[in-house]
Amino acid sequence: MILELLRRIFCKQEVTKMKLIKNYIPEGARCSTHHGFDNGQASIITIHWTGPLPNQTPEQVRNYWISNGEASAHFIIKDEVCLQCWPTDTVAWHAGCRAGNYTSLGIEVIPKNEAGEFSDKSITTLKELIATLPKMPIVRHYDWTSKDCPRYYCDVNKWQELLAKISK
Ligand SMILES: [Zn+2]
Repeated sequence: MILELLRRIFCKQEVTKMKLIKNYIPEGARCSTHHGFDNGQASIITIHWTGPLPNQTPEQVRNYWISNGEASAHFIIKDEVCLQCWPTDTVAWHAGCRAGNYTSLGIEVIPKNEAGEFSDKSITTLKELIATLPKMPIVRHYDWTSKDCPRYYCDVNKWQELLAKISK
């Protein structure tokens, strides 16, 4: 009885676990790249937002990249879902500059509102995903090119807060 009670309390407190779905972008898509990283592997993580469209699904973002886009990233997060679009040893075009693309993994987050705030579940998934990767610095798209991405976290205080939550 007590064990059952403890189990229930524990399970209630447990945060939703990341659902990692691997669905790589097919060869020949407009956003395809076939290059390796400058040093053989990524050494930095770049965080993005997908824009002020909170109702998008990760699949819609992926499909947009395949049919219309020249850009893409390795992961798309929305709440507990993490859709992996590229293997982590493949370069994707997401950082807006060569230095960023050829050194970093791109993680896109679909925001919970038009302001660009990430949901608590998305932040948890981001943390869980980062925990599975080798330890490396985490930067914003903004840090590469001054693009307002991820917009809500271009504010330095909000970024520091987020960084503290997702870092190893
Ligand atoms: Zn970006």
